[in-house]
Amino acid sequence: MEREHLVRRLVQLVGPDGVVHDPGELALYEYDGSIDMHLPTVVVLPTRVEQVVAVVQLAAEAGLPVVPRGAGTGLSGGAIATRGGIQIALTRMNRILALDYRNRRALVEPGVINLDLSLATQPRGYFYAPDPSSQKACTIGGNIAENSGGPHCLAYGVTTNHVLALEVVLPNGERIWTDGPDSPGYDLTGVLVGSEGTLGLVTKAWVRLTHLPEAVRVLLAQFGSVVEASSAVSAIIAAGIVPAAMEMMDQVTCGAVEAAYHVGFPPDVGAVLLVEIDGLDDGLDDLAAQISRICTAEGARSVRVAVAADERAALWNARKMAFGAMGRLAPNYYLHDTVVPRTKLPYTLARVEEIGREYALTIANVFHAGDGNLHPIVLFDRREPGVIERVLRAGVDIMQVCVDVGGTLSGEHGIGLEKREQMPLIFTAEDLAAMAKLKRSFNPHDLFNPDKIFPSRVSCGELREIRAGSRKATLLAEYGH
Ligand SMILES: Cc1cc2nc3c(=O)[nH]c(=O)nc-3n(C[C@H](O)[C@H](O)[C@H](O)COP(=O)(O)OP(=O)(O)OC[C@H]3O[C@@H](n4cnc5c(N)ncnc54)[C@H](O)[C@@H]3O)c2cc1C
Repeated sequence: MEREHLVRRLVQLVGPDGVVHDPGELALYEYDGSIDMHLPTVVVLPTRVEQVVAVVQLAAEAGLPVVPRGAGTGLSGGAIATRGGIQIALTRMNRILALDYRNRRALVEPGVINLDLSLATQPRGYFYAPDPSSQKACTIGGNIAENSGGPHCLAYGVTTNHVLALEVVLPNGERIWTDGPDSPGYDLTGVLVGSEGTLGLVTKAWVRLTHLPEAVRVLLAQFGSVVEASSAVSAIIAAGIVPAAMEMMDQVTCGAVEAAYHVGFPPDVGAVLLVEIDGLDDGLDDLAAQISRICTAEGARSVRVAVAADERAALWNARKMAFGAMGRLAPNYYLHDTVVPRTKLPYTLARVEEIGREYALTIANVFHAGDGNLHPIVLFDRREPGVIERVLRAGVDIMQVCVDVGGTLSGEHGIGLEKREQMPLIFTAEDLAAMAKLKRSFNPHDLFNPDKIFPSRVSCGELREIRAGSRKATLLAEYGH
């Protein structure tokens, strides 16, 4: 369909105010938090589900790609319109439609900002547990598409544990409701959470509300090295304690955070561990003392316990704004997201440092240590010739190291565009083919968020080649399959 005609049709469906087609304004939608970029042909900002249905039907009729978009904070290129087409930005569908405290659930539109739901429910003693560090900006629709995690997902579980049912617009324009895993039939909610906008567009969600804990303590342990801090993480879990959150920042990150927020980290600190515990007030101080002893036994130089709400908030602010503080070190960063078994953290972090040296790049680490969910942050200056290639190669090496120690490609940011070529590192051709069949049953013409998740060779039908290199294939061969 010719572009001007398309714009006219979309204006009829959502009004002139809901269509972005000016090249200058479209530039705002060509990127997300990753380093890839591509301009959509046009962006629409619907306010009602009926408009979403009409736009998707128009796209299907014209054979145009549809790329859903929330706040654009994604870190794997998921919202990039690689083939142009219509980007549907859900940020104006941002109403909390129902707060049902009796059933501990809320009905929200996809554009609701994550933190806004917790702020709205706090006065009644509730919160929405999945808390990505980007929670002041990211949307619940984006969280559902990425199956997002966050510091408190160690104890409370990631997004999929908090989504009860979804209203979804399918690529042919049909509108359906899915139900939870306790209902008969296939668990379509489970299939859609984490599907990165490739199976359907979420237009409403029933999500779980969690009761706020009676009491909270936050411990800040300072170590001489990430190796000691990582040992403390394993020792805490081995003692049978599952904190609400357990986050680590390395020396480079602590330096940037201290410069930005003055939280009192000494210049020679090697790593800090932030441990939050919650529950009944009775017994919580004993638990804090036990964690303190474990940290000290693993080499902590000091352990501070924050009880007062403002002191806890200051420590969390420093952690959640750590990515922003990186701006003090370099104009650009490329943030990775891999997972390794907790006991492999010391080895993996040492290899990440070596990779940084090999490619002459500084790499900072700030991550969800309790889950073994690493976030190596490769710092660089985009203006330096050839640097992007070095950054990308370092990223591939980091992923390989994590897979080699028994880890995986993504803990929470999704595969998107960024890691799709690495999928054969962990999946066989048959695994990918099964996933591709599922995708085709929802999205037969590959119009919803094309070029995401699957390696390009899958769409070219070269599945057999993938088999040889995958870790799973090696394991299967080892066990005689
Ligand atoms: C500073 C910073 C810190 C972060 N910390 C964390 C963290 O702790 N944990 C974590 O998990 N992530 C984190 N992220 C990554 C990011 O914030 C999450 O992936 C978030 O869920 C993306 O939400 P969004 O609204 O920005 O979605 P977008 O980036 O706009 O889109 C993400 C994906 O969701 C799809 N999508 C969006 N809305 C819908 C919808 N309604 N229906 C179907 N598909 C849709 C898009 O097509 C895309 O594939 C962080 C990012 C930044 C920049």
